Amino acid sequence: MASVGALALGAAGAMRSPRGERARWLARQSSRLRAIVAHAAARVPLYRRRWAGVDLAAVRAAADLARLPVITRRELRLAPMRERLARGVREGALVHWLTSGSSGEPLQIRRGVGEDIVLSAFMWRAWRSLGARAGDRRVFVTTQQFPQTRRISAATRRFKQLLMPTVSVNQPPERALGELRSRRPDVVLSYPSVLTRLAALALAEGRPIGARLVVSGGEVLSPAARGTIAAGFGGPVRDVYATHELLLLAWECPATGLLHVCDDAVVLELIDDGRPVAEGEEGDVVVTGLHSRVMPFVRYAIGDRAVRGPAPCPCGCPCSTLARVAGRRLDYYTLPDGRAVHHYQVVLPAIWASGARDQIDRYQVIQERPDLFVLRLATFDPDDRRSGVRFGEELRRLLGAGVEVRVDQVATGDFAPAGKFRLGFSRVGES
Ligand SMILES: [Zn+2]
Repeated sequence: MASVGALALGAAGAMRSPRGERARWLARQSSRLRAIVAHAAARVPLYRRRWAGVDLAAVRAAADLARLPVITRRELRLAPMRERLARGVREGALVHWLTSGSSGEPLQIRRGVGEDIVLSAFMWRAWRSLGARAGDRRVFVTTQQFPQTRRISAATRRFKQLLMPTVSVNQPPERALGELRSRRPDVVLSYPSVLTRLAALALAEGRPIGARLVVSGGEVLSPAARGTIAAGFGGPVRDVYATHELLLLAWECPATGLLHVCDDAVVLELIDDGRPVAEGEEGDVVVTGLHSRVMPFVRYAIGDRAVRGPAPCPCGCPCSTLARVAGRRLDYYTLPDGRAVHHYQVVLPAIWASGARDQIDRYQVIQERPDLFVLRLATFDPDDRRSGVRFGEELRRLLGAGVEVRVDQVATGDFAPAGKFRLGFSRVGES
């Protein structure tokens, strides 16, 4: 594992602003890429097996990655955890995460605590370039009390809470807003759907929240949502594109509105029909994490679609850019008793509690009526009915009395393709 010195160097490197010649910027990326490919080939059984017969010495830079196969989320999930982890890693010492991404395929992620710090440093750098300053009061508005990180240690949790105080939306919205106001935040971070609701409530009270900066991420930020959030919070809204797997992938360029790709943390490819797309075209997002050694992600198709922007960014940053990301859009579900719950408040905890997270191939949640949810579900074993029943039961329990959950067992191929697929939505109020 990384020494304390290497960790400090990694975190310090992540805090340096991107600048200088693009060729030098990419040379550093290439050297990190060679190191992670060599590491994965030597120590991670999944990659060792998948790359048999490939001339790895020829993978020198991002453009050579086409020599390696793309690993889908499904393929990664079908591999046992020990095949995905580097040999010699002690599982008990790792940070655990569960994500369902944009595609509804639950994936368990492991990271070293040191890796988590380095990846978080890239996030901090992005916030700083968006206008956050040292000494700011930052508040993260969350949809859940870390059910996906149940095995995170109490000390790590306290450390995170100290660095980033949270306000939970698992309470009546007026109380969540009151708690947020009482923190007098300079910077607020959350999902666009959560921010939009709080902003609308603040506007209804006739009093903006008064944050200097709002950072949105985890879902697509529509122009309408951006307008509501800016008005309700009384500050500019900036977007980041981040994932549980690799944390920061890209952040908004304040000068152009493009997204700066975090080229020193990831290699981000956009692929359509097996070929890289040209500027202005849309493709599947395929990422390689340059700092994840415990559970490497090399040419991993994350399940999002995005449009390639110019490189480097016209603002002077040497980074590559994305013109936009077609990722997650999630709805709030308004229940018969008037409560509104966010998708993440109920769905990930239900998957976790069902104990079926490794049996579920893919899922989608549709609210057909206030009192009727349909859980579309594919299991790896087509004869497995139990996983769907348990997932459905947990979902019903979390949604509360008076709500029915119907489980529709479907085939994996029955889900809409990336870019068209919606992980969770409500038909209530649709005309
Ligand atoms: Zn820029």
